[in-house]
Amino acid sequence: MTVPLIAVVIPVFNEEAVLPQLFTRLEALFAAQPGCRWEAVLVDDGSRDGSAGLIRAQAARDPRFRLVELSRNFGFQSALSAGLARTGEAAAAVTMDADLQDPPEVIPALVAAWRDGADIVRATRRTRSETGLRRAGFDLFHSLYGRLTDYPIEPNTGTFGLLGRAAIEAFNGLPERHRFFPGLRAWIGFQTADVPYDRQERAAGQPQQSFHRLARYAMDGLFSFSYLPLRLLTYCGLFVAGMGFAVGLFFAVRRILGVETAATGFTTLVTLVLFLGGVQLIGIGVLGEYLGRIYDEVKHRPQYIVKDAGKDRR
Ligand code: UDP
Ligand code: MG
Repeated sequence: MTVPLIAVVIPVFNEEAVLPQLFTRLEALFAAQPGCRWEAVLVDDGSRDGSAGLIRAQAARDPRFRLVELSRNFGFQSALSAGLARTGEAAAAVTMDADLQDPPEVIPALVAAWRDGADIVRATRRTRSETGLRRAGFDLFHSLYGRLTDYPIEPNTGTFGLLGRAAIEAFNGLPERHRFFPGLRAWIGFQTADVPYDRQERAAGQPQQSFHRLARYAMDGLFSFSYLPLRLLTYCGLFVAGMGFAVGLFFAVRRILGVETAATGFTTLVTLVLFLGGVQLIGIGVLGEYLGRIYDEVKHRPQYIVKDAGKDRR
């Protein structure tokens, strides 16, 4: 029987508080799963604390751990892409957060589903730990996303999951810079299986993704998987133009028939001008969202820059 190599890809940004615990739990997992060879690819996304040092020390102690250092903070999606691009010989890659909200103890179930034939395994959350504004934001995003795109993502999934080799290659081969992992994972297709788990609280430290960043990823997800905002603009334009024509005709006829002679309607005019101005500005904003993304794509800048890919570990 062949013993497959499984890479665990983990983006890390200012996580020195949880890293020791993460290492211990991963080591325990590796020891308990002799049917696989393991490798942990930890991508340091420009941390400003001691994270990179901790990972480097761990890599020196245990060659199954590897540090990929980015030259600055590029953001979670880019760090994830950098890690997946460096899983060279692995037969499958597990993607997970560093903060232990995705418990490593679920990984054997992901691997089992992969061994049963799935190319992509998504860990689905039976329970969520977010509350309040964050939770409301996630819910709003998922309901919008579900309505807008042709490649729906399971609302209870995040990054946590497993990609088989073919799926990794497909993902790595995608040319775009604005990446939204769950959306692309749905887009690339393949046979997909779900493994339910209970999302944990962050083991230590503070959330590293600001609300602003999450909002940006949400916009990336929506705009890169849907033309509906543009189409809605067209419909809106048609509707407003139709109304304008009808109202114009109405007043013209009244004028011609002599029903209305005095110059009135100041309030109506102001309302219409402001309303149309607002609609146009929204329209320009939506166009801008697409245009800005097109501009970013045509610049062809790399998604991230690797400062140090770690010494070859085998
Ligand atoms: N992260 C990253 N770069 C960033 C922000 C976060 O690589 O700019 C990592 C972070 O270290 C963690 C994962 O992305 O491993 C998820 O971040 P966090 O737990 O803050 O996000 P949330 O749980 O709120 O989605
Ligand atoms: Mg987290």
